[in-house]
Amino acid sequence: MATKTIQQIIPPPPPHMVGDGFRVHNFFPGNDFISEKRMSPFFMLDYNSKVEFSPREIPRGVGVHPHRGFETVSIAYHGRIAHHDSTGNSGVIAEGDVQWMTAASGVLHKEYHEAEFSRQGGLFQMVQLWVNLPSKYKMSEPKYQAITNADMGRFELPAESGYVEIIAGDYGGVKGPATTFSPMEVYNVILFDGGGISIDLPAHYNTGILIIEGQVKINNTAIAPQDNFVLFRNDGETITLVAEEKSIILVLSGEPINEPLASYGPFLMNTYEEIEQAYTDYRQGKFGYLED
Ligand code: MN
Repeated sequence: MATKTIQQIIPPPPPHMVGDGFRVHNFFPGNDFISEKRMSPFFMLDYNSKVEFSPREIPRGVGVHPHRGFETVSIAYHGRIAHHDSTGNSGVIAEGDVQWMTAASGVLHKEYHEAEFSRQGGLFQMVQLWVNLPSKYKMSEPKYQAITNADMGRFELPAESGYVEIIAGDYGGVKGPATTFSPMEVYNVILFDGGGISIDLPAHYNTGILIIEGQVKINNTAIAPQDNFVLFRNDGETITLVAEEKSIILVLSGEPINEPLASYGPFLMNTYEEIEQAYTDYRQGKFGYLED
């Protein structure tokens, strides 16, 4: 099979704060390199690279806000996040865990550092992805998938190279637990020093990887350091990764959703009429109620 070649290795853009709890590098869509549709079905990637938070009694985070038309996927690498939404779901995203929230027709939620983590302070590192929904699912019922690290599929690589945690899709016949509304693959690849992996993904899938930890040689041609995002061309199927030191790599790959996009603030729809409707419904209390 042909190699899926590198389009660009993108260093982390300057960070900004989301609320007072998340210091994120927005790799897309808010930069010059990756347009709104280039990584479809993934619409947004906010990456909170490693940061030390000082102890604080009142947890930092983001207060009550709405979402409609897509899914938010939060992956915690260090630290813990508490979450509440207007459908009554709440939970803690602990280190190594994932929360896959389908906002769909609409929820209100809030995202804060978990109380005990906030009191202790410490190292914090996480990813938030916005995954678009095909038009026919945008107004479906909201749902919530709490995926612990133990729930993930696990594929052991040969020769003690490392292992793959499969969140969605499958690798080597091992399936991930997340149910999705369009075809996609989401993995954490953990490679020990010198370990390697080959990953086959359809050529037309939009594909990128984020180096969470370590440093990785890609396709035996280029080196991506920690906190960099690597965008691949849609020209082949196979990616090879070799770790230059112990590394963790988030792999994102999915079939593009070829539909019109209308995005504004916390809403992601197909038309601007639907965006206006979302604001109207929000003002009229149709997203439910959640205490601040
Ligand atoms: Mn949110």
